[in-house]
Amino acid sequence: MAQALYVHIPFCDAICTYCDFPKMVAPAAFKTAYIDALKTEIVASRAELADVETIYIGGGTPSSLPHDLLSDLLDFLAAQVDVGRLREWTIEANPNDVTYDFARLIKAKGVTRLSIGVQSGRPELLKMMGRTHTKEDVERAVKAVHDAHFYNVNLDFIYAVPTETMADLEADLAFALALKPLHLSFYTLILEPRTMLFHDWREGRVTLLDEELEATMFETVNRVLPQAGYRRYEVSNFAITGFESKHNLHYWNAHDYLGVGMGAHSLFGSTRFHNHPSLSKYLASVKKTGTGGRLVDPCDPFREACVMGLRKVSGIDRADLWVRFHQDPLLRFPRLYDNERDGLLLIDDASIRLTDKGLILLNYVERSFAGG
Ligand code: SF4
Repeated sequence: MAQALYVHIPFCDAICTYCDFPKMVAPAAFKTAYIDALKTEIVASRAELADVETIYIGGGTPSSLPHDLLSDLLDFLAAQVDVGRLREWTIEANPNDVTYDFARLIKAKGVTRLSIGVQSGRPELLKMMGRTHTKEDVERAVKAVHDAHFYNVNLDFIYAVPTETMADLEADLAFALALKPLHLSFYTLILEPRTMLFHDWREGRVTLLDEELEATMFETVNRVLPQAGYRRYEVSNFAITGFESKHNLHYWNAHDYLGVGMGAHSLFGSTRFHNHPSLSKYLASVKKTGTGGRLVDPCDPFREACVMGLRKVSGIDRADLWVRFHQDPLLRFPRLYDNERDGLLLIDDASIRLTDKGLILLNYVERSFAGG
C-alpha cells in the first residue's frame, strides 16, 4: 500500500533555465483533458491508496490551474483517499499565482501546506534562472497567505547559481528569514543535461561557481538557518521543529509512494516505475489501460533506502532496514567503515549518519554504496 501520493501537474507559464522536470506551456483545453486523465488514473489506482497519509501536488506549477479546475481536482482527491488518515496535504505554487483567494481556496479544500518556489530575491539571479516573478511578488504572496491565516508555508531557494556572490547568498538568507516561513529548502543548483542553462554552459556563455565558493556557501546556509531556529533535518531542508515535510520524509525513508500524472515516479512493492513523460503518450496510456504507463526502472531497493536514509540528519535506521530488507548496510557496503575512519560518518548500533565533514562530502560518501 502506498503511504504517500504524488500528483503531477505539468503546466507552467514559462520554462525556467535550470529545469528538467516533466513540464510544458499549454493552452487551457489541454489542462481540462489532463485533469480528466488524472482522475481516471487515480480511480484505477484507488485500491493502492487506502493507506495514504500524505498528498503532494507538485509540478510543473499546480497553482497555474484555473481556480475552478483546481477546486474540482482538490474535491476529487478528497473523495478518493481516506481524509481522516491524512497527516499532510501540500501544494506547490509560483509566487505570481498566490493571492488571498488562492490561499482561501486551498485552505477550504483541506490542503494543509503550501510550498512556494522563490529561488531567489536577487533580480539578476531570477533572470539567470528564467523566473518571471520579483522579490516584491514573493513578499506580496506570503502576506496574502498569512492574511488567510494559512501559516504552514515552505519557501524553496536555489543557490550557487552562476554569477552569484556571497553577498547575494547572504541577502537571500536574510530575505528568506524575514518572510518567517515554517520550512525552508535551500538547494544548490544542479546543472542538469537537457536544460537551457546546461546548453549555455556548454556553449561557454555562463560559468559555474568554483567548488570552494560553493562549499563556503553550503557552510553559510548550514550555519545561518540553524542560528535562526530552523533545524536541519535533511541535507537541504530546514524546519521549525514539528513542521518537517512528512511527505518528503516518506521518500527519504524509502516508503512506498505512488506518483500519478505525466512522467510521475513511484516506488511501490519494491518496484520503481514511472509514467510516460510525454503528454500524448500519457493520455493514450490512461485511455487504454487506466494507468500512465508504469514503465519499470531498474532498482536495488535496499541500496536506494541506504542512499536516501543517509540524507537525513538522523541517518540510516539500521533496525528498520533489517526488519524490512533483512540486510545490514555495514555487511553489504563495508567501505562505510573507511568513511567512519576518515571522520565522514558516525556509526553506532542504531544508525549510520553523516558528520559535518561528511555532509560537505556527501557525493564522495555515496560512492560507498557502489558495488556490494
Ligand atoms: S522550475 Fe517549476 S516553474 Fe520552472 S519550469 Fe520547472 S516546473 Fe515550471
